[in-house]
Amino acid sequence: MSAAEASAVTRDLPEVDRVAASRAAVAARRARAAVKAEIASGARRPLDVLAAATAEPEGVEGRLRITDFLLAIPAIGRTKLGRILEELSISPAKRLGGLGRHQRVRLEEFLHQRAALGRHPVSKLLVIAGPTAVGKGTVVRHIRENYPQVQLSISATTREPRPGETHGVDYYFVDNAEFDSLIERGELLEYATVHGVHRYGTPRGPVREALSRGTSVILEIDIQGARQVKDAMPEAALVFLAPPSWEELVRRLTGRGTESAEEQARRLETARTELAAADEFDYQIVNGEVAEAAAEVVDLIQLRGVAAR
Ligand code: 5GP
Repeated sequence: MSAAEASAVTRDLPEVDRVAASRAAVAARRARAAVKAEIASGARRPLDVLAAATAEPEGVEGRLRITDFLLAIPAIGRTKLGRILEELSISPAKRLGGLGRHQRVRLEEFLHQRAALGRHPVSKLLVIAGPTAVGKGTVVRHIRENYPQVQLSISATTREPRPGETHGVDYYFVDNAEFDSLIERGELLEYATVHGVHRYGTPRGPVREALSRGTSVILEIDIQGARQVKDAMPEAALVFLAPPSWEELVRRLTGRGTESAEEQARRLETARTELAAADEFDYQIVNGEVAEAAAEVVDLIQLRGVAAR
């Protein structure tokens, strides 16, 4: 029954019944709030709530709005909510008990996947890699500016700073001799020559310190580096940032305008091999919208954090 229909019914009731109906409505709202609190605290699994809604569509769980249900699940926020509903083809006006069979199956599948994600070994170390020009730098900058609770590793590199880049913020810009000595002293967690030209490496100390403090750390590095980190620290989560399409990747690469034609061709060639490595990663996130991709990355850390509790 819609809210309008319900209020039409109560309007036609005698006064005594109207009071009773409104008390019942308040009690039902309270019961739904209690279910949401149980989901949020982890006391009840979302899959069990969905099962109860299916068994009794007019019961407390069945009358729960899909939007309230999903928002009660830890690490699902408003941005993510819209995307999930779109992916599942469920209207935000739906109640859990009113889902079509296919919608319910898709939602169950989604909840199962999420539950499986929570069972992964917990790591606070997240490595983001992906083909060149996919926008890793932009996503990482967005995380740095909007999620101060996450620490971003600052790499050392032998390449020259680009306009606007700052030593100690974007990179530690070092010469070849300094890079060699970082390697010799064992101060790099991983390092690689990227695009066949410059060397890049992750200083080990800050990562170790952050992890020992319990702070989440993100490494934005190339695929060779990601493999080395996984070998050294198997508990690290590898995230592959993928472009919406190959055409879009080419457009982003050529549109950046900071590299010569020769450099662009070389990067495109690297990107082709890098895309082929996607399957080696634990998670894939498509970088369509920067803010959304950044939120997904941070969600992933938080979700793993939730699993740790
Ligand atoms: P850019 O020169 O455009 O800043 O970065 C070029 C590439 O180097 C990017 O793909 C980036 O992920 C990678 N990179 C940056 N820092 C590191 C690092 O510490 N280690 C490795 N292996 N790659 C890195």
